Amino acid sequence: MDHTQLLIIGSGPAGYTAAIYAGRSGLTPVLYEGLQPGGQLTTTTEVENFPGFPEGIDANELMDNLRQQAERFGCEIRSASAVKTDLSAVPYRVWFDDDTEMSADALIICTGASAKYLGLSDEDKYRGQGVSACATCDGFFYRKKTVAVVGGGDTACEEASYLAGLASKVYLIVRKPYLRATQIMQERVLNNPKIEVLFEHNTVGLFGENGVEGAHVVYRKGEADERRYDIAIDGFFLAIGHKPNSDIFRPWVKTDETGYILTEGDSPRTGIPGVFAAGDVADPHYRQAVVAAGSGAKAAIEAERYLASR
Ligand code: NDP
Repeated sequence: MDHTQLLIIGSGPAGYTAAIYAGRSGLTPVLYEGLQPGGQLTTTTEVENFPGFPEGIDANELMDNLRQQAERFGCEIRSASAVKTDLSAVPYRVWFDDDTEMSADALIICTGASAKYLGLSDEDKYRGQGVSACATCDGFFYRKKTVAVVGGGDTACEEASYLAGLASKVYLIVRKPYLRATQIMQERVLNNPKIEVLFEHNTVGLFGENGVEGAHVVYRKGEADERRYDIAIDGFFLAIGHKPNSDIFRPWVKTDETGYILTEGDSPRTGIPGVFAAGDVADPHYRQAVVAAGSGAKAAIEAERYLASR
């Protein structure tokens, strides 16, 4: 079993920033990239709100820059996913899906959050055949076609706008009579002639012989004027929020009911000495790359102080 002073799990902005800070303080951390190297940001296109890039930057390029910066300061990056942990005593132990095991004196959890699905059996049936939770990854396949995006938040509006640049028509299926997204994102959607917003609609199923060909939707479900009908679509995109990737830490660290790791005050301390959480796995509120990066820096500073005090 390998041992490291500081183990970082996750390769989004939080993980890489923690690695940069830890590396610069001489800790030579080991970072495991997980299932989605570069994290959630790699599923978007252009990042316009990360400070320092007045013209915006391609998300993959930003993450690649962060990775190189982490490596430059001595971080060793490995490409497996953590599947089990034992945080009952120091050194902390972590098992990975490549059948390796690591022990560490300190741990920074930066495992992020994953996209949620509606829970329809048709989502599983058509996954990869018309169902997607990442417009940037899969939008290309729907050029000049008709797609639907589910959700009313910033992600849904961003995905709908992105897809409108490729597809011939985009339905935005919103369960409430209003959008939850920020004003600027709402305006972008509402002013786009290719996007039709279906307020107060729910999706109850998908159909199609060879992949998705349409969705069964319900307007004002349970109301006197309820109406059920079908829309013809080629792609069905989910944008209804995320689930924090905290399951393997839940026996040890405290989480809220959704699974977001609870930390002490506005620090990244989990309550277990030497175990810190940073980024979206511990952030139900902001979920922004720059916020995640900042919390990664805080976690590395805390880890460095913890290790120096032992
Ligand atoms: P949100 O939680 O903000 O929104 C989720 C949306 O999905 C809501 O409209 C919600 O409806 C809807 N929804 C949830 N469950 C279901 C369901 N079962 N059926 C139908 N609809 C459902 O998530 P986002 O991913 O949009 O955003 C997360 C955070 O990230 C936010 O803070 C957001 O501001 C931020 N963000 C910022 C961006 C930027 O600044 N560029 C880009 C993307 C995200 P309801 O309103 O009814 O609950």
